[in-house]
Amino acid sequence: MKFEILLKNGRVIDPLTGLDGRNDVGIRHGKIAAVAPCLSAADADSVIDVEGYIVMPGVIDSHVHVSTEERWIGFSMMASVGVITAVDFGGPIENTVKGLATCGCGMSIAGLHTVTPGRNTKDRDPSVEELSEIADGALANGALGLKIVGGHSPATPEATARIVEVANKKGCYVAFHVGTTRHGSDIEGLREAVELAGKNRLHIAHVNSYCRGLHMTPAAEALEAVELLKTHRNLVSESYLGTINGTSAHIKDGLPTSHVTRNCLRMGGYTPDEKGMGEAILGGWALIQVVRGGKMELVTGEEGYRIWKDAGTMTGVSFPVNDTTAMHILATAKMEGSGEFVVDAISTDGGAIPRNVQLERGAALVRLGALTWPELVRKLTLNPARMFGFERKGALAEGFDGDVTVADPVTGRAYLGISRGQVIMIDGVVVGKGGHLLAATQEGAAKAKELGLSSETVDLGKSLFYTRT
Ligand SMILES: [Zn+2]
Repeated sequence: MKFEILLKNGRVIDPLTGLDGRNDVGIRHGKIAAVAPCLSAADADSVIDVEGYIVMPGVIDSHVHVSTEERWIGFSMMASVGVITAVDFGGPIENTVKGLATCGCGMSIAGLHTVTPGRNTKDRDPSVEELSEIADGALANGALGLKIVGGHSPATPEATARIVEVANKKGCYVAFHVGTTRHGSDIEGLREAVELAGKNRLHIAHVNSYCRGLHMTPAAEALEAVELLKTHRNLVSESYLGTINGTSAHIKDGLPTSHVTRNCLRMGGYTPDEKGMGEAILGGWALIQVVRGGKMELVTGEEGYRIWKDAGTMTGVSFPVNDTTAMHILATAKMEGSGEFVVDAISTDGGAIPRNVQLERGAALVRLGALTWPELVRKLTLNPARMFGFERKGALAEGFDGDVTVADPVTGRAYLGISRGQVIMIDGVVVGKGGHLLAATQEGAAKAKELGLSSETVDLGKSLFYTRT
């Protein structure tokens, strides 16, 4: 059989068939054409020996941010660590699609469109009609569904429930960064989210963020989150493995404009004001985000302080505020009986924020004995593919998309990225071009084609989001 790419001698892990062993993978016409212990290299255009590496379906990041122009750099940052497909949780969807057309690095992208009360609604209590119009516009422009920004810019609890209801009625996707005008982005907000969803389908974004220890210990909050998600399987979810967050370092009238930033300063023992911020940067607690050499880097100490001052405080900043015990609980919790994971996927909430550490930290969890490689691969590929209804992704079986990530089994460092049969990354160097949009409607998919992108429609009716019982 003729292959365009033949990967020889890797440890091939396929969560769909349960395969885990030394095999070859042949790709033809952008699809997985064969997986077998010994495929002939005679007819292959390109043969890559991946002995000593793990070969898995292309990594799918189920929660990223690449929608604003400053964040388009996130496409290459993701591709460089082996991400092949990602779902943007920012929007507006028009920006995400434009970013994909400009900087897509050959990746497949789906996007959610944000509902930001007061910005794209008239107030914090939008009506069904207003929300319906926003959803229709988003789907026509290529979105998979809606994102409720909650914690950052909350709607009323009633309006939040309305957004979920409208999305469910239309059969599109809807994700929630929990928080309303009544409850914050914390474990209380998560309890409220479960109630607001009722029997509707809802994606709970980055579960870790509600387990930072604001009400109980982080571990106790994570255990409660697990219990809530175990007993409400109409909710799908992801959690991340990064210890840092991402927020704004902007100061106005002597105070950080972001309330998240103020909380982070308090958590580090600094005063929640301009002076505290300066000290936190000099002291190494606040890490200033700066674009360098084609990626976002974190700089602290005197250098970070200078960058922050020179930018008139208009920079992004990260703090190491995410609890590792909560992280561990959420990454590993399983359902009794079925053994399926309680939190469906491992995500990053990264993209342009330098915390695309799912493989690196995932490999660390494997070294620790907390997950096996096949379990990690399931949470990075097949589970997110099913969650969003990406029917031909998440597996290394014949006929599936030719999406492959090759990684070092000890460090988790990605060595090779292949997207729909094209090599997009080799040894950390991104070589992919163009992009592919996964849209909910024909109209949305057609919009992407106008920008020179390829595209396809996703049947959300078959997704885990809508079918799990
Ligand atoms: Zn996010």
